[in-house]
Amino acid sequence: MNFRYKLMQFMSGRYGPDMLTYFLLGCAIAVSFINIFLSIFVSRTVSALVQLIVYALLAFAVFRFLSRNISARRRENDWFVSKINIIKRKREFNNQKKADKYHVYKKCPYCKAVLRLPHRLGKHKTVCPKCGKEFNVTVRK
Ligand SMILES: [Zn+2]
Repeated sequence: MNFRYKLMQFMSGRYGPDMLTYFLLGCAIAVSFINIFLSIFVSRTVSALVQLIVYALLAFAVFRFLSRNISARRRENDWFVSKINIIKRKREFNNQKKADKYHVYKKCPYCKAVLRLPHRLGKHKTVCPKCGKEFNVTVRK
């Protein structure tokens, strides 16, 4: 029996790596990198406490990797991926807003909907298409 076969047998029925596991490992690496500076410039006690966080992140990553409760791990990962997608969509929308020279983006004061309005300088009245209320919009530069 070779090592590869033994490893395959060990991992069968276990969850394995996913996006959340990689994120946890990335966090562990980032925090331990920051911890180098904490141990030099802050104090050894703080550094030891931060090191515990690193161990906790690594332990959670390994636990998820080897877990046999695949549906629970998948649910955790789905939750994580949905949060990441919200952040990505917000960033995309902000980039789109920055690139758009012909419109201004204003929030409706009543329902908080974001309206895309034509870029015309000065004070205007506008009607929110979502809640139907009228409000003033001021566009500068
Ligand atoms: Zn509104």
